[in-house]
Amino acid sequence: MSASNFDLAVIGAGPGGYIAAIRAAQLGMKTACIEKETLLGGTCLRVGCIPSKAILESTWQYANARGHLSAHGVTAENVSFDLAAAMKRKADIVLGLASGVEALFGKNGITRFQGTGRLSAPGTVTVSSEDGETDIRAEHIIIATGSSPAPLKGVEIDGELVGTSTEALSYDSIPERLAVIGAGYIGLELGSAWARLGTEVTVLEYLPRILPGMDTELAKEARKVLEKQGLRFVLQARVTGVTRQGSGALVHIEGADDVACDRVLVAVGRTPNTEGLGLAEAGVTTDEKGGIAVDDSFATSVPGVYAIGDVIRGPMLAHKAEEEGVACVELIATGYGHVNYDAIPGVVYTHPEIASVGRTEDELKEGGVKYRKGSYPFRANSRSRALGETQGFVKMLADSKTDRVLGVHIIGPDAGHLIAEAAAAIEFGASSEDIARTSHAHPTLSEAVKEAALAVDGRALNM
Ligand code: NAD
Repeated sequence: MSASNFDLAVIGAGPGGYIAAIRAAQLGMKTACIEKETLLGGTCLRVGCIPSKAILESTWQYANARGHLSAHGVTAENVSFDLAAAMKRKADIVLGLASGVEALFGKNGITRFQGTGRLSAPGTVTVSSEDGETDIRAEHIIIATGSSPAPLKGVEIDGELVGTSTEALSYDSIPERLAVIGAGYIGLELGSAWARLGTEVTVLEYLPRILPGMDTELAKEARKVLEKQGLRFVLQARVTGVTRQGSGALVHIEGADDVACDRVLVAVGRTPNTEGLGLAEAGVTTDEKGGIAVDDSFATSVPGVYAIGDVIRGPMLAHKAEEEGVACVELIATGYGHVNYDAIPGVVYTHPEIASVGRTEDELKEGGVKYRKGSYPFRANSRSRALGETQGFVKMLADSKTDRVLGVHIIGPDAGHLIAEAAAAIEFGASSEDIARTSHAHPTLSEAVKEAALAVDGRALNM
């Protein structure tokens, strides 16, 4: 057991942890990062955001070649899909990006420890690995251990027949029938990826709607669009269990028919990773959801110990964790740091994409906020027409008195990129008039955002 001294020790090298470590190094702190996996990058890079985007892209290319190219006069015959090749491409992308993070650690002089970290004494993190234990002394400690798929009562995850997103990103064959439990981010993304390959996908959702938390109008449109792509939704479905049937499974739903399938994907949310960190022994308080309780400065109940990302309150999004990592480190080093939670976008990478930032219309109604609303359909946008991607709309919500943009909700081509303008607008406290008077290149999809801004004042030009 050897001891090393650092200004900062970060536990976890996901987007929250590794970005925090880099920012700390930039600010001159001697920084250590502890990660139990061989690859850096966390769930997002290894078994989440990145591999899912790789698979979504490959399956979309296939679906596009089969279904949409003919409209452009392009004939593609005998189009086939090589699952193994797509999986290898995915793995290569993950490896490349993980080694990029490793290179960033090298460039920034961050010391990496491989193993499981736990708070063992004040200012001490003990790293356990196959090689034994190492103690790291650090003035500041940031816990950035992320989250894991939430279990579902009565449903045993066996990693084969019944799995989580991790398995659904690596199936070795295309399932004929897939039952997805949960119509959230993961359920819709992975459900649509497999549906593109011919899998019959049934999405079982507990609530009477899909994408809870997102704007209702957006979710309704998303359901319509995804149903057209072959996804079947069973809403208000309370799954009570899964039993084996031959080589497949039967998913039992309270008060409804069983759903027969070959694979089950459980995607009912995620839970914070707090086990094995020695939190209780160290005196770190957890919150009612099992996450680590923090104040506005990401400080836990123990001085010198901070937490960021999925392991604390708020949306479990990689970019939210990144913002918190930067703010937490800046607060430690300079006393200043801030995250604007009103300007954190959320994107579901289906086709078309679904993206939101700021307040939903439902929230504004509930909060009694007076607002004006402008909507603009992509079918009226010239670039959408040229692309042949005319589904969806942009909806902008602005304060009826001040015109300040409160929320923007988009379903349509490249919504995930388009939402960045809206996030910047909210960050700068822009009005819808500011966006309406900003020149947007023609012909681009971004003009739909401008037109939605004009529509807030009832003066859309191309509608
Ligand atoms: P989620 O919270 O997005 O959706 C879970 C869904 O499961 C909800 O619709 C919920 O009502 C439903 N549900 C809960 N219990 C149920 C039950 N017993 N039976 C049926 N349905 C039930 O969670 P997720 O899709 O598992 O994703 C996990 C986390 O990962 C999310 O917090 C999300 O933010 C994040 N994520 C983000 C992205 C992205 O940014 N594109 C992609 C994937 C995951």
